[in-house]
Amino acid sequence: MTEALFREDSYRTETEATVLASEPRGIALDRTVFYAQGGGQSGDRGAILLEDGTAVPIVNTVYDADRATILHVPAEGAALPRANARVIARIDWDLRLKRMRAHTALHLLSVVAPYPVTGGSVGDAEGRLDFDSGETTLDKAEIEGRLNELIALDRAVSHRWIADQELEANPGLIKTMSVKPPMGTGHVRLIAIEGLDLQPCGGTHVRRTGEIGKASVTSVEKKGRINRRVRIALGPA
Ligand SMILES: [Zn+2]
Repeated sequence: MTEALFREDSYRTETEATVLASEPRGIALDRTVFYAQGGGQSGDRGAILLEDGTAVPIVNTVYDADRATILHVPAEGAALPRANARVIARIDWDLRLKRMRAHTALHLLSVVAPYPVTGGSVGDAEGRLDFDSGETTLDKAEIEGRLNELIALDRAVSHRWIADQELEANPGLIKTMSVKPPMGTGHVRLIAIEGLDLQPCGGTHVRRTGEIGKASVTSVEKKGRINRRVRIALGPA
């Protein structure tokens, strides 16, 4: 099992760790700052630094079959650390920050377009959400204007954990959320954007909406009769 440090601090770029297992399909560490692929967000890239100074390039990060161990996928042919070795795990921060900005922007997009979300993807300073907007027409310029207004409010983004029982005891909380939380694992991670949005999410986000920077709506496509796909792209941070 891997302690997932990115869930508590998405700004942490490296950590010391101990190698639990090491195979070409993935290097398992006891703790990591690498986000594992899921929720429409790609796994982190970066490097695992060995004691002799070797940097093992990591091309992706995924969950193992147990969903509790995180596997750092090494570049093909890379040298592997030995089990129990002490290493430093360091993410590609420029890439991660682009994804954190895009991910947070998508939360705001779901506020601007308050329709059921049927799919989505977090890219590198870009992303998309699919909405079941029924017969409503989504106006590209209007969405872009509103989205940038919300970004400019520079609202705080925070997370907290809530027990399933607490959630069940506060049905009003679920009503205020834009996405229904998955229940049954005992606890849910909630992401709050101060005064704007509350939803369960396991991804990585920036601390304030102002960090997203300028957003453009690059397209609004029809995907089937009622589905609309909205793509956004971000300018420089
Ligand atoms: Zn999120």
